[in-house]
Amino acid sequence: MVPVNKETYQLISEELKQKNVSLVAVSKTKPAEEIHTLYELGQRDFGENYVQELAEKRSLLPEDIRWHFIGHLQSNKVKIIAPFVHLIHGVDSFKLLAEINKQAEKNNRVIDCLLQMHIAVEETKFGLNEKELKELLQQLSAQPMKNIRVVGLMGISSLTDDTSKVRSEFNALKLLFDRSKMNDDFKILSMGMSSDYQLAIEEGSTMVRIGSLLFGMR
Ligand SMILES: *Cc1c(COP(=O)(O)O)cnc(C)c1O
Repeated sequence: MVPVNKETYQLISEELKQKNVSLVAVSKTKPAEEIHTLYELGQRDFGENYVQELAEKRSLLPEDIRWHFIGHLQSNKVKIIAPFVHLIHGVDSFKLLAEINKQAEKNNRVIDCLLQMHIAVEETKFGLNEKELKELLQQLSAQPMKNIRVVGLMGISSLTDDTSKVRSEFNALKLLFDRSKMNDDFKILSMGMSSDYQLAIEEGSTMVRIGSLLFGMR
């Protein structure tokens, strides 16, 4: 296994700091020791896709890590991460928001969420379209939930070498983000991964999710 790349981490985290962009280190499938290596270099935000894997790693690692859930979250699993999760990136239904709100209330906390938008051409990627986003935000203002905070949007670009396509998807998401801003809480735009984070930042990303560039291929 290729160990975590410390030099790359330092270069990327320096670059992002200068640009005022947050880094979520995506550690899915990687062992706790590798997460700890980045932790020792100062990284605190880590992203995972699977609830069980996240819960296990959390039990092995320092308490001040901010865990981001970036996968597709099933309603029946929300209760497992509700006591500690820092930010849920992939919310794409009112039903899921309602469940997060319920579990957050049981834990006496407010959970920050990002709404996932469908920006790629691929059928398989989850997410809302513009109309669904509008409806969801309207529903939310009609039925406010006091234990969640919608703090922005998240999107995954098409898997393609065509940078102009990727750029236009990020640009569309940024425009939608600006149009959807309903209050000052709405400030995170999570877009960009190992292959396209620089493009994403040029197009207005405030948070990138980087895995393989830091931890090696999965
Ligand atoms: C795996 C994953 C990432 C990181 O992907 P890399 O290409 O390894 O940087 C980012 N976001 C989501 C939602 C992911 O599932």
